[in-house]
Amino acid sequence: MRTKVAIIGAGPAGLLLGQLLRTYGIDNVILEQRSPEYVLSRIRAGLLEEGTVALLDEVGAGARAHREGLVHNGIELAFGGNRHRIDMKALAGKTVMIYGQTEVTLDLMNVRKEAGLTTIYEAADVTPIDFDTNRPRVTYLKDGVTCDIACDFIAGCDGFHGISRASVKPDAIETFERVYPFGWLGILSETPPVSHELIYNNHPRGFALCTMRSMHRSRYYVQCSLDDHVDQWPDERFWQELKSRLDRKAVDELVTGPSIEKSIAPLRSFVAEPMRFGRMFLAGDAAHIVPPTGAKGLNLAASDAYYLACALREYYDEKSSAGIDDYSAKALARVWKAVRFSWWMTSMLHKFPDSGTFGARIQLAELDYVASSRAAMTSLAENYVGLPF
Ligand SMILES: Cc1cc2nc3c(=O)[nH]c(=O)nc-3n(C[C@H](O)[C@H](O)[C@H](O)COP(=O)(O)OP(=O)(O)OC[C@H]3O[C@@H](n4cnc5c(N)ncnc54)[C@H](O)[C@@H]3O)c2cc1C
Repeated sequence: MRTKVAIIGAGPAGLLLGQLLRTYGIDNVILEQRSPEYVLSRIRAGLLEEGTVALLDEVGAGARAHREGLVHNGIELAFGGNRHRIDMKALAGKTVMIYGQTEVTLDLMNVRKEAGLTTIYEAADVTPIDFDTNRPRVTYLKDGVTCDIACDFIAGCDGFHGISRASVKPDAIETFERVYPFGWLGILSETPPVSHELIYNNHPRGFALCTMRSMHRSRYYVQCSLDDHVDQWPDERFWQELKSRLDRKAVDELVTGPSIEKSIAPLRSFVAEPMRFGRMFLAGDAAHIVPPTGAKGLNLAASDAYYLACALREYYDEKSSAGIDDYSAKALARVWKAVRFSWWMTSMLHKFPDSGTFGARIQLAELDYVASSRAAMTSLAENYVGLPF
C-alpha cells in the first residue's frame, strides 16, 4: 500500500489530521491498534475551545456538536465556602463548549467513513521505519499477516504510550516532565449537573471539579491519592467525599445516583522536543500531556493537527518545506503556554502534600486575587477559552 501520510492512532489528533488532510486533497491512511468500539469507550475530555469547534466545522464534523453541545460563558471558582464566577465571554470574548471526546471521535469517524478513507483498526505491532530517510514506511500485523505502507510522511498521533515517540533515538529527543503527587478519581452518572457551569473547588480536603457531559449526564472528580484504587471507592463513599468539598448551595442541589463509569487518572505535565524527526511528526498526547485541570489536552491535539495539516498542504501545494520545517517550533510555542496554564491551575487548586499550611494560604491569596482583579480574571479567561492558533 502507498499513501502520502501514514497516521498512527485514531484518537482526536489522528482523526482530525486525517480529515483536514483530506479537505486539502492529501490522501492518508490511519492505523489504530484498537477496535473502533474500544476507542469510543474511553471516557476522557469534555470541553472544547471555539477554535477546536471551528476545526470540526471545517471538516464537516461539527453539526452534532452545535446541536447537542452546551455552550458555557463562564466557570466558577469555589474556595473558602464561597463561589466566584469568571465571565469568560465578557472578559475574553469567547465561550467553550461541553461536548464529550467520545462524541467528537464518533463524529470524526463517521465523516471519515463517509469520505471512504482507509482506517485499519486492530493493527498490531505498528512500527514507523526509515523516517530519517526520504522513503519512510510503516509496518503492522493484521490478521496474522505482516503489511507494509510506503508513504511520504508519518504522523505519530498515538498518544502518550504510543510507538512513534518511542521509536526516536534517545539522543534526538529531549523531554520535560512534572509528575504530580495525586490523581483524579472521576465518575460519570446519569444525573443532572449540580450547576449549569463548571465549578472548580479548592478545599482543605483536596480539589474537586463539578462538570458534565449533558444536562442529564454529570462528571465529577475528586483529588485522590496515587495509591487509591477504584475498588476502594464505592459510589456512596465518592458522593460523601465530593459533598465534603463543595459549598453549602452545591451540597443542597447535588443530585446523586449510581456511577456508570469510574476511573482514576494520574496527573502529569510532559513535553517532548522537538515534534519532528525527519519525515515523522508527533501530534497530540504523543508529544505532550497536561493535567486535565486546564481542559487543554484535546484542544492541543486539535491545534497540533491543524498546524501539521497546514504545513503539509504548503509542502504539496506550494512545493515548499517552510511549513514542515517550522511545524515543531510553532506547535511547541502554543503547547508550552497551555502547559504553563494547566500547571498554574493545578498548582492553585489542589492540595499539595508537602506545601503545608503556608502553601494553602498562598493558594487562597492567589484565588482571592484572581476573583477580585479584572486583569487576573481576564488572564485566566483568555487562557481557558484557548489562545489563538
Ligand atoms: C480523565 C481525563 C480527563 C480529560 N479531560 C480533558 C478535558 O476536559 N479537555 C481536554 O482538552 N483534554 C482532556 N483530557 C485529555 C485528552 O483526553 C487527550 O489529550 C486526548 O485524548 C489526546 O488525543 P490524542 O489523539 O493525541 O491521543 P489519544 O486520545 O490517546 O489517541 C491515541 C490513539 O492512538 C492509539 N495507539 C496508541 N498506540 C498505538 C500503536 N502502537 N499503534 C497504533 N495505534 C496506537 C490509541 O489506541 C489511541 O486510539 C483528559 C484526559 C483524561 C485522562
